[in-house]
Amino acid sequence: MSFDLVLLGGTGDLAWRKLLPALFQAFRHGSLPADGRIVGVAREALDDAAYRAWVAQRLGGVEGEKRPSPDEFARFSALLHYVRADLSNPADYAALAARLRQREAQAVVLYLATAPALFARVAEQLGAAGLATPRTRIVLEKPLGHDLASNRAINATVLRHFAEHQVFRIDHYLGKPSVQNLLALRFGNALFEPLWRRETIANIQITMAETLGVEKRGSFYDGTGALRDMVQNHALQLLCAIGMEPPANAGADAIRDEKLKVLRSLRPWTPDTLARDVVRGQYGAGQINGERVAGYRDESGVDPASRTETFVALRTEINNWRWAGVPFYLRTGKRLAAREAFIVVNFRPTPHAIFRTPADGANRLVIHLQPRDGLDLHLFAAAQAPRGPAAQHPLPLQPAQSTSAPLSPVSLNMDFDQRFGTERVGAYERLLLDVLAGRLNLFVRSDEQEAAWAWVEPILHAWQHAEDGPRHYAAGTWGPSAASALVARDAQCWTEEC
Ligand code: NAP
Repeated sequence: MSFDLVLLGGTGDLAWRKLLPALFQAFRHGSLPADGRIVGVAREALDDAAYRAWVAQRLGGVEGEKRPSPDEFARFSALLHYVRADLSNPADYAALAARLRQREAQAVVLYLATAPALFARVAEQLGAAGLATPRTRIVLEKPLGHDLASNRAINATVLRHFAEHQVFRIDHYLGKPSVQNLLALRFGNALFEPLWRRETIANIQITMAETLGVEKRGSFYDGTGALRDMVQNHALQLLCAIGMEPPANAGADAIRDEKLKVLRSLRPWTPDTLARDVVRGQYGAGQINGERVAGYRDESGVDPASRTETFVALRTEINNWRWAGVPFYLRTGKRLAAREAFIVVNFRPTPHAIFRTPADGANRLVIHLQPRDGLDLHLFAAAQAPRGPAAQHPLPLQPAQSTSAPLSPVSLNMDFDQRFGTERVGAYERLLLDVLAGRLNLFVRSDEQEAAWAWVEPILHAWQHAEDGPRHYAAGTWGPSAASALVARDAQCWTEEC
């Protein structure tokens, strides 16, 4: 298959850090179709040779085995091209169209790796330049809009020129092998399904914690915040994967239909639940890995009086027969105590206790997503009775009332990285290959995205009108203490506190 993959914003941070290294890995693995061109587009005055030199600098800086040999890079760089264009200038699209018309590639991928503010205009102009053909796919990076109205406006413009099946909305979390594995865990095994419901599950906790601050993206982040950056997309996608009903098949629409039902079943917010069940925080100075780090308001690009949240914790429920009454807790934040993403499924205790278990004696399934990819299933087992003369361990007089030694916690641990090792493909590599193959499973449909925005929007409104700003937390902790109170009200605790 021949392809043209156009990186609109081909010299930006995303292209530099993620897309070009992922494309090189796909090339090295032999997964990129042979007859391809990768065309960078930006305003900077470069030509093909200068763009290749720029990419060489990037890939030459890659550590270890992922760095290309000179011969490998020479073969990869033959794919690279560059078109200079100002995407806000309609006249500049002609040069791009001319370059693409040099040949009739079977798949033309237009990857919008530019500022989201340009998305609608670029989609419009791509259409006007005749670049929206049945062979074209358009890839949209997150965030797609900053609220429901802007999201709908972008989707409406894009869908005027491209059919829904040509639109690939990226949520790079869905490209992670660990996240794809969630569906395999749930729907490729019969074991969990009978337990995956309100009768056996006490609550589910989703944590996406970063130790990094805003790095060089202070001004972007200050206009965005954790709710838009992480909750509206990644956290809700994880919640969908955990909460959805089994789809009829593994096709994109069957999966997306079920995710949409979850999003539409999320408990609507009321003034009471908004005040009680959502906590926002902002980090102050603190310690990360033994090093002193600055507070958020002292980061470059951030307003010194900023009210932008760098942490969100919330409690919600899915209002359907499977999940009614089961709390789902989500939390995410920057500059937290660990870099970890995981989901904890807390089961209910046994209905009638005949053994003594530790105080928090209930089973728990921990699904590790990042950096570890694996499962821990926490169970209880009888430790062997100590050896010794029988007289020291008399049998209880009434066996039925026996209070034996307390059961011991044990866990069953699986490490998928170790098991599957090098067979695994990185998130952006997976997503780029899926776009080229036209596979939509790991991309978000417009109605899903709109349902997610519709659900977070009352939170944004409430914060906009609130007198209080985000609560303070010190960098290197697990967020404001109100996040602990949020789960403690249900007599629960976050895993690290239990
Ligand atoms: P960036 O570093 O600012 O790069 C923007 C790119 O767009 C540059 O190549 C820039 O080159 C080009 N550009 C800007 N205005 C242009 C115009 N009018 N005409 C043509 N090219 C133009 O941004 P980024 O961090 O790569 O982010 C790109 C997109 O990915 C954004 O939507 C962002 O939200 C999303 N995203 C980024 C990351 C990340 O890790 N960086 C992660 C998730 C999502 P010139 O200035 O030379 O034109």
